[in-house]
Amino acid sequence: MKVCIVGGVAGGAGAATRLRRLDEEAQIILFERGEYISYANCGLPYYIGKEITKKEALLVTKPELLESRFRIDVRTMSEVVAIHRAEKIITVKNHVTGETYQESYDKLVLAPGAAPKRLPAEGADLPGIFSVRTVNNTLAIDDYLEKNKSSSAVVVGGGFIGVEMAENLSRRGLKVTLVELANQILPPLDLEMANILHREMLEKGISLKLNTGVEKLEQSETGLTVRLSDGTKLPADMVVLALGVSPESGLAKEAGLALSVGGSILTDENFRTSDQNIYAVGDAISIINGVSGKEALIPLAGPANRQGRSVAGNLLGKNSSNGKQVYGSSVVRVFDYVAASVGMNEKQLLREGTAYHKTYVHPNSHAGYYPGAKQISLKMLFDPQGVILGAQAVGVDGVEKQIDVIATAMKFHGTVYDLEELELCYAPPFNSAKSPVNLLGFTAANILKGDMPVFYAEDVPKLDRERVTVLDVSTPPEIKMGTLPDSINIPLDDLRGRLNELDPQKPVYLTCRVGLRGNVAARILLQHGYQAYNLSGGYKTYSLLNLDLGRIGPKASQKCRADGISLEVDARGLQCPAPICKVEEGMRKLRDGERLHISASDPAFGSDMEAWCDKTGNTLIERGSNHGVFEAVLEKGKK
Ligand SMILES: Cc1cc2nc3c(=O)[nH]c(=O)nc-3n(C[C@H](O)[C@H](O)[C@H](O)COP(=O)(O)OP(=O)(O)OC[C@H]3O[C@@H](n4cnc5c(N)ncnc54)[C@H](O)[C@@H]3O)c2cc1C
Repeated sequence: MKVCIVGGVAGGAGAATRLRRLDEEAQIILFERGEYISYANCGLPYYIGKEITKKEALLVTKPELLESRFRIDVRTMSEVVAIHRAEKIITVKNHVTGETYQESYDKLVLAPGAAPKRLPAEGADLPGIFSVRTVNNTLAIDDYLEKNKSSSAVVVGGGFIGVEMAENLSRRGLKVTLVELANQILPPLDLEMANILHREMLEKGISLKLNTGVEKLEQSETGLTVRLSDGTKLPADMVVLALGVSPESGLAKEAGLALSVGGSILTDENFRTSDQNIYAVGDAISIINGVSGKEALIPLAGPANRQGRSVAGNLLGKNSSNGKQVYGSSVVRVFDYVAASVGMNEKQLLREGTAYHKTYVHPNSHAGYYPGAKQISLKMLFDPQGVILGAQAVGVDGVEKQIDVIATAMKFHGTVYDLEELELCYAPPFNSAKSPVNLLGFTAANILKGDMPVFYAEDVPKLDRERVTVLDVSTPPEIKMGTLPDSINIPLDDLRGRLNELDPQKPVYLTCRVGLRGNVAARILLQHGYQAYNLSGGYKTYSLLNLDLGRIGPKASQKCRADGISLEVDARGLQCPAPICKVEEGMRKLRDGERLHISASDPAFGSDMEAWCDKTGNTLIERGSNHGVFEAVLEKGKK
């Protein structure tokens, strides 16, 4: 059997090597338009940030290895420009010699990937404007930065590649502005989760322009000018366009193969196209969304690699795994943070009209009493039967672990009740005895069983204070750091003794910091005959949804440097209300003008401290953060 493969990276190279492992006799020819095969697309942004320092590290496999070890005929700089289906022949253009020739096939595999979307604006092709797809694109960016001693960049598009490029250009010392048309970066996340990353980017000095489009790019005397839809003119030494990708299906379209969503190549579950001798894999094809069951585009390296492996078996008539079903498990680093997600998010479920419930938790990455625990914010969506529809996690440590577990559960059609029962590895340095995934299962099951009626952050403005009681069961020091508008405060531990303060005719809407004490309070009230609802994810989720990005600016120092500290308070790993209680206790011991230094692992602690100092007449001298540890220096009294 003679197999021609178009595209020599994730899907194509994977198909070629697997086919050789399965069939020693097959004749395999791999055509790649570019200079390199099997390169690490996903590593390209880190080369710009100089975390990956050697170009060779980006080249996962060389043609010589595929030729010597796998007896694959690798033809780089060779673009397949036409498919003649009736004759089972392709036309190939050699970009070195300029020669065009034909090659026959018994089976053809298309793995041409996806191309960066173009910006529909004047000036998008000017020098100094780049996309990131190939090793050569990346080397060109690197070269341009060096030669021009660039000091500022505008990144257009806040998807994975845009965010990674923004971070890496910033790590390289450039002043970076990220422009995004939507109201948030990273589309797989919902807004309140993305807000954690907006804050991180702003604090790390990235200028964020959300809800903003690019209208025009112009050459200026000093470099480029990017004209934005809000009228701003941004000067920049270079511009990176990262507007997403479109399937490279031109060849398939010309050959008359059936297409699917977004112009992608349509295949069956065995990756066979509408021509029985042509298969297709990777970013160029549509997959079946594992949650909605619909054809969709999820261009990621994991699916492309697995599909390449799987199609090799299919070519030989072996049974396919169900690889066309994709859940979109993904992870991205944003400076000190990590964001991961799987399945559908709330925006997508709303668009699809799918019935769902949701739950939020904000636990530690491992046992709080063991040093180094960091907070993770998690959101999970599930249907009325408990089937998991999607999950998102943002934090510093252990983030992708939670999503990997949920992705596995989803692949096996798991429910929230399965998450309650999951037995996950535990020892203090690694996890909590009730892992974050278990907590998602507990809270979701509580919601479905009616054990914990909930309301959500977006419901807060709709609560009619004449008809309902809004009750925060946090401690008074915590209330000073912020609470729901027009709420009353009865600390949880006082609640049973103060029930007479609550009107039994009015439903009680409860909150605390992260939703844990609110749940206990709801259980108390429900068993005393009240109608009670707990704010899922507590005040923390509410404040994330309502985060005022305009108040967040770059933090010059990573670590607090203020001197004259009289008292050190280490609240790392402690759950609320302990950190703020420790601050209050410490400040009581100090005299006016003396200073306290606090470290905590709640990412919101910095802004909480600001509110607390305002309310209590103390002074916030400095705040900083370093890999998920948040610090503040407070001075007793108003300066
Ligand atoms: C900067 C960047 C970062 C990324 N980071 C991640 C990440 O962290 N995680 C993740 O899951 N995914 C990531 N991706 C996406 C991931 O790289 C892709 O999903 C994956 O590479 C798709 O594999 P593929 O084989 O379908 O296509 P590609 O890897 O794009 O390979 C297609 C190849 O086909 C060649 N080709 C196209 N047409 C022809 C033709 N007619 N003739 C010959 N050759 C042709 C192209 O030159 C190209 O080299 C990233 C992508 C980029 C660009």
